[in-house]
Amino acid sequence: MAKRIVVLGGGISGYGSAILAKKHGLDVFLSDAGSISPLYRSRLEQWGVEFEEGGHTVDKILNATEVIKSPGIPDKAPIVVAIRQKGIPVISEMEFTHRYIGSAKTVCITGSNGKTTTTSLIYKILSDAGYNVALGGNIGESFAYSVATGAYDWYVLELSSFQLDGMFNFRANIAVLMNITPDHLDRYNYCFQNYVDSKMRIVQNQKSNDCFIYSADDSTIMAELTKHPLRSRELPFMAKSAVASGAGDAFLAGNSFTARVGDVSVDINTEKMQIKGLHNAYDAMAAALAALAAGVAPEQVAESIYDFSPVEHRLEPVAEIDGVQYINDSKATNVDSVWYALESMTRPVVWIAGGTDKGNDYTPLMEFARAKVHTLICMGVDNTKLERDFAGVIPTIVSTDSLDSAMRAAVAAAKSGDTVLLSPACASFDLFKNYCQRGELFKEWVNTNLKK
Ligand code: ADP
Repeated sequence: MAKRIVVLGGGISGYGSAILAKKHGLDVFLSDAGSISPLYRSRLEQWGVEFEEGGHTVDKILNATEVIKSPGIPDKAPIVVAIRQKGIPVISEMEFTHRYIGSAKTVCITGSNGKTTTTSLIYKILSDAGYNVALGGNIGESFAYSVATGAYDWYVLELSSFQLDGMFNFRANIAVLMNITPDHLDRYNYCFQNYVDSKMRIVQNQKSNDCFIYSADDSTIMAELTKHPLRSRELPFMAKSAVASGAGDAFLAGNSFTARVGDVSVDINTEKMQIKGLHNAYDAMAAALAALAAGVAPEQVAESIYDFSPVEHRLEPVAEIDGVQYINDSKATNVDSVWYALESMTRPVVWIAGGTDKGNDYTPLMEFARAKVHTLICMGVDNTKLERDFAGVIPTIVSTDSLDSAMRAAVAAAKSGDTVLLSPACASFDLFKNYCQRGELFKEWVNTNLKK
């Protein structure tokens, strides 16, 4: 029987997969319950891919031999349940695309936090070094579309746990695992171990000449490693632990780190980097190890790291007005990223948080909240959990349900010398399209209402 591929979702991951399938002569059908953007629609038409939007025609889906599911579609969506009930294999864009990359190599980055920063930095180092490299996964162009339309030697891919869930035979030549802290528990039956298992799929299928770069300071990863025998070369990075590996490693001591792979090493002074804080030092160590493992010269690694500036919406300084500093950390959509944001705060903080709760446990934030935050502005449709959890910890708590009311409350609460920090610990979907829109509106509000 001829292979019939059904692609669920016509966003960045889906449209590229459909085009790649078409290119390889497969019978392909794309179905999106919502609407498809004009750009992707025109590309699908250009390639002659059959598609539908605004709903799923079940008969045209349940006759698939394989389904490529976009990561945004949850397993509990009725169409996915029906597909699985019929026993049709469900894979991700990564799994499908990997079949067609030939001899190209992959650098795959996952973790609860730091993926985009680390992925962008690795991509920058490899491109600055003149590699023929594409950026994909959660950022950049669709991996599948890049493979369909280009011929690259390297693919640097940011992988979410949802992508990893649909990966079975995929092999990462260089795998990077930044950290594992609770996130997305609403999609993992509120069971942390399910989410951990998903992240650990990054090492599956690795061979002895592949590399596994990971944080040795992360107790969850270290516990998992005792259960997963690794075939790949281990390249740990750390600031607190002392785990040396014959294959290489990176240590942060004070303001500098040395990253070594085999007998090649690079020294980095973190004070000279434009990205600040312990979390960014971790990201730079991981990136340095990945780049050295990919064969980039140490001098080039150092030059690109120093040249790298913060990615938008990640502790991004917006303005200083009347002595108040405004920082956009809209991408902090979980508790751990807020921990690092609060850790790096040096002034009294008015903290704007809230949104769609993902099963958050705020306990790790209590110490910094008590020491550094004088006002918590809750910004969400339902603020009860935040209000309850921080009552008695943060002196003033204000409940708001729009960006405008949150900002007015923040400005009223902030005194000269304070920082107003948007670092929500939650997803943005109750009030915004996504975290980018939330961050952009925050910046726009500051620039229009406060700048004189
Ligand atoms: P991701 O793509 O995994 O969400 P980002 O690089 O976009 O990661 O950063 C998300 C948030 O996490 C930002 O608030 C950022 O400041 C913070 N962050 C970046 N690197 C780390 C890290 N290594 N550990 C914890 N938090 C981090």
